[in-house]
Amino acid sequence: MNKFIFVSGGVCSSLGKGVAASSLGALLEGRGLNVRMVKCDPYINVDAGTMSPYQHGEVYVTDDGAETDLDLGNYARFTNSPLSRANSITTGQVYEAVIRKERGGEYLGRCVQVIPHITDEIKSRITAIADSDTDVVIVEIGGTVGDIESVPFLEAARQFIHEAGKGNALSVHLTLIPEVAGGELKTKPTQHSVKSMQEQGIQPDVLICRAPVMLDESTRKKIALFTNVDPDAVFSSCDINTTIYEIPLIFFEQKLDQVVLKKMGVESRHADLKPWYTMMEQFASRKGAVRIGIVGKYMDLHDSYKSVYEALFHAGLAGGVEVELVKIDSARIEEPENPDNILGPGAPGGGIDGILVPGGFGHRGIEGMVTASAWARTHKVPYFGICLGMQIMVIDWGRNILGWEDADSTEFNGNTEHPVISLLEEQIEVTDLGGTMRLGKSESVAEPGTHLFTAYREERIFERHRHRYEFSNIYRKNMLNSGLRISGLTPDGGLVEAVEWPDHPWGVGVQFHPEFKSKPTAANPLFRDFIVAARDRKRSQT
Ligand code: GLN
Repeated sequence: MNKFIFVSGGVCSSLGKGVAASSLGALLEGRGLNVRMVKCDPYINVDAGTMSPYQHGEVYVTDDGAETDLDLGNYARFTNSPLSRANSITTGQVYEAVIRKERGGEYLGRCVQVIPHITDEIKSRITAIADSDTDVVIVEIGGTVGDIESVPFLEAARQFIHEAGKGNALSVHLTLIPEVAGGELKTKPTQHSVKSMQEQGIQPDVLICRAPVMLDESTRKKIALFTNVDPDAVFSSCDINTTIYEIPLIFFEQKLDQVVLKKMGVESRHADLKPWYTMMEQFASRKGAVRIGIVGKYMDLHDSYKSVYEALFHAGLAGGVEVELVKIDSARIEEPENPDNILGPGAPGGGIDGILVPGGFGHRGIEGMVTASAWARTHKVPYFGICLGMQIMVIDWGRNILGWEDADSTEFNGNTEHPVISLLEEQIEVTDLGGTMRLGKSESVAEPGTHLFTAYREERIFERHRHRYEFSNIYRKNMLNSGLRISGLTPDGGLVEAVEWPDHPWGVGVQFHPEFKSKPTAANPLFRDFIVAARDRKRSQT
């Protein structure tokens, strides 16, 4: 069975289209179907790799090393869809491919046009997602109906739906139902949004209406009347004060999956949503809170560290505590300010129970991160360093334990006498030159008896990388002899993948990014153990 569902949005952006598409994916998986998720992004960038976190939020990295839109992170958290480069389609990629074919003479001298050449390229990329194991492909179309940029994607969807035949491809459209003074819900913007879809030649099969409250029967009937959508196919996505991970269950209770199955002509089957119900039980039974200081440089923008924040939340579910995110711009901890004033028990809002230094690039804010690492190490506060955060631990160790005041990464100081973090080609002992970004899934081997091994409960760990600099092997001996633990290596032993502090409750740095694979129903083990360490430290103090 190969079915396709196109999820589009209207009225305005930020209605939770990615979460709605992912939640539908989770429900269909609960019905035993094999789901694949794809994002179509109307921007002209070929991928998200070059986009600033200020502009566009986090770059989500897939196993095959694609630097994609952060929406793929939602797919990973809600569904089991395999995700690779192919699951993120941008206007840039589509045009690049078509122009390459044109230059190669593949169009045999014909005039190359949006229809059919661009739309054919889009359709063939969508079709290619469905392999022989796939039951349903959910295609999220970025942007809002009416945007100039979205037109080729909606046109491709229209053709696709028409060609696939009844029941084989559906349109699910997400809109906003605003509330005006007096509490009245207004359906007009939704009516207009569906009209815009119809002008594109697409009749939505299902509407998901974002509203402050659940829509009542009469509102749903009214929307149905104006839009040609069946009344039982108009669903509510109300504002919630629990967690976005409850949305699959909210849709389930309204029978979204049953209606979609019926429209696709798939016989109804048993629904198993136990992991989602268990997760909500964990959510409700969390006791107390831990304050986790995230020391980074894009602190005013939630999306910049999206997967890290989500993984911390998942870890709180697993560890039975609420995780309060304390976002600290590392520049604030740079001297002469005493870090105790920001991190210690007297800090406004209370002390920090754990520190996380996430990934990052560039020099700004590094000194404050090193100070935060030294503070966590000497105050025995749990510390979790991810990628840059691990490199920071090594710099702190070089400076403050080995006494090399200028210890640094060559990313930040090319002239240091002690480049404890450097590019591979700068490490003379390494003959095999790397030099480009290490991206995507690779294996690390955990040393038994370390926090790393305890977390994963096995030696072989598969996580994703996105970095250029490495722990310098020139200093491996000095680091080990002075007590730093090297808890993870590449299988050939050639590169350091993880370090830990000795005589410390939980100080772990990893060169990879464990946040990308964490799920609400299965927290990443390192995040979980970090939060458990922070929780236990807090409980032992009170
Ligand atoms: N800037 C560092 C490097 O390139 C760390 C990258 C990261 O944290 N993702 O190695």
